[in-house]
Amino acid sequence: MLRFLRSSAMLRAQWVKSYATVAKEASIPDPQTSPEVLYTDIFINNVWHKSESGRTFDSINPTTEETIAQVQLAGGEDVDFAVKAARQAFKFGSPWRRMDASERGRLLYRLADLMERDQVYLASLETLDNGKPYNMSYNVDLPLAIKNLRYFAGWADKTQGKTIPMDGDFLTYTRHEPVGVCAQIIPWNFPILMMAWKLGPALATGNTIILKPAEQTTLTALYIAQLVKEVGFPEGVVNVLPGMGDTGALLANHQDVDKVAFTGSTEVGKSIQLASGNTNLKRVTLELGGKSPNIILADADMDYAVEMAHFGLFFNMGQCCCAGSRTFVEDKIYDEFVERSAERAGKRTVGNPFELNTEQGPQISQDQMIKILCLIESGKEEGAKLVAGGNRSDDMPGYFVQPTVFADVQDNMAIAREEIFGPVQQLIRFKQLDEVIVRANNSNYGLAAGIFTKDLDKANYLVNGLRAGTVWLNTYNVLAAQAPFGGYKMSGHGRENGEYALSNYTEVKSVIVKVPQKNS
Ligand code: NAP
Ligand code: MG
Repeated sequence: MLRFLRSSAMLRAQWVKSYATVAKEASIPDPQTSPEVLYTDIFINNVWHKSESGRTFDSINPTTEETIAQVQLAGGEDVDFAVKAARQAFKFGSPWRRMDASERGRLLYRLADLMERDQVYLASLETLDNGKPYNMSYNVDLPLAIKNLRYFAGWADKTQGKTIPMDGDFLTYTRHEPVGVCAQIIPWNFPILMMAWKLGPALATGNTIILKPAEQTTLTALYIAQLVKEVGFPEGVVNVLPGMGDTGALLANHQDVDKVAFTGSTEVGKSIQLASGNTNLKRVTLELGGKSPNIILADADMDYAVEMAHFGLFFNMGQCCCAGSRTFVEDKIYDEFVERSAERAGKRTVGNPFELNTEQGPQISQDQMIKILCLIESGKEEGAKLVAGGNRSDDMPGYFVQPTVFADVQDNMAIAREEIFGPVQQLIRFKQLDEVIVRANNSNYGLAAGIFTKDLDKANYLVNGLRAGTVWLNTYNVLAAQAPFGGYKMSGHGRENGEYALSNYTEVKSVIVKVPQKNS
């Protein structure tokens, strides 16, 4: 049954059901509600280190607001040490550079196997540190991460160059070579999954890595670092640096880092790109914010569209870069859609993330909760109509926000323009297709978009008109290792996942060989 559940088709099907239904149908192993925290140090050269400065920071459980563990804070000296380790591991002739590509793939497959072996523990630790429902950590995040590593493991010995019919007496071919030392700065919303998205293509193509997890969610990344060691990756190939304050900036400004891959806010993405320009022009790929339109046409199946628009926004407590946070609903069905959406939000199960029927846990941190509550207040002040929620869930500890729905939202309101990153749905009325294309595209972001309709002509017209890196038609939030994902405009550049991700981690070398035309 579990194997069956892990198949992506089943995952997709489960996403349109409530978690309560899934919990009843699936035999999910019980979580470890107090998983032991085994690793809190800095991981360099396959060895655990204390911070040179002696500084630490707290890892917080957002469900209880209690400190789970103190984690070592990597500062300047630790960053330099990690960069040296990664550089040494990347040196021409090193074990990693000499390793057969198929062997790199085998190590990645093995890492996936060990994550699967420890799936209950990892999912439990993720839920403890991040607050996302265990049902989701176990059934969504872990399986997707494991599949991602397996997908890129398969690519390791298949990233081939070309032979090119160049003018003249030459044999010309290209080699796809690793970029080098890659800093990877990942966010707190999908800690394990984002780690897999970053490690997979970088390791498959032979790079070395310094991974900096978000300060809010370091614990699973540190446990996976130990699995990297158990798998047998050579020392210095994967280094994991917990940190906060300036650890990310130290990496982005480092002269001996060849590439930074970042997922997070557009603001930090801009700083990273500037840092590249001010130092060594390191390669930069960015997966940033979004304010994605989800367009519901009047002919869509009402039950399905309401449920999917709800899921498209509330999934992961609304903490998704691709959240459908501007739900455009056609005039003819708008009022009913508002009523049904408010009703659905009111039924959302909010509470202890270790309970199997919980749909919504806490937000990641107090800061994020406050940011969301401020935006909710701005929505009320700017005249949007609050039809569900609207406050902190203050009957319990933890950073819980009520599932909130606003109707009569206008395009110029802050809640329609800013990334809220919380459980706050905006329902916006539209009348015409051309009008909704212009309004949907009227954003600095361009990460994703959704369309719900049975009319193929209208669907294709919208698909072509929308400026977004992913368009979901009659579905939402479907992400898989095989399909590229990334943004237009200020949602970033570069693509994660799929074959396209490999080019983020390779340089192309043209080799031009003189071929004598006569046999002398
Ligand atoms: P954030 O601003 O996106 O990023 C924080 C991360 O960036 C930390 O790891 C931080 O590490 C690093 N960082 C900060 N300044 C840096 C610099 N100049 N150079 C390199 N790295 C730097 O995260 P946040 O403050 O937690 O969230 C703010 C907003 O970001 C959210 O409200 C949400 O809108 C958005 N967000 C988006 C995503 C996504 O998936 N796209 C995910 C999370 C958050 P150090 O402190 O160690 O430098
Ligand atoms: Mg935490």
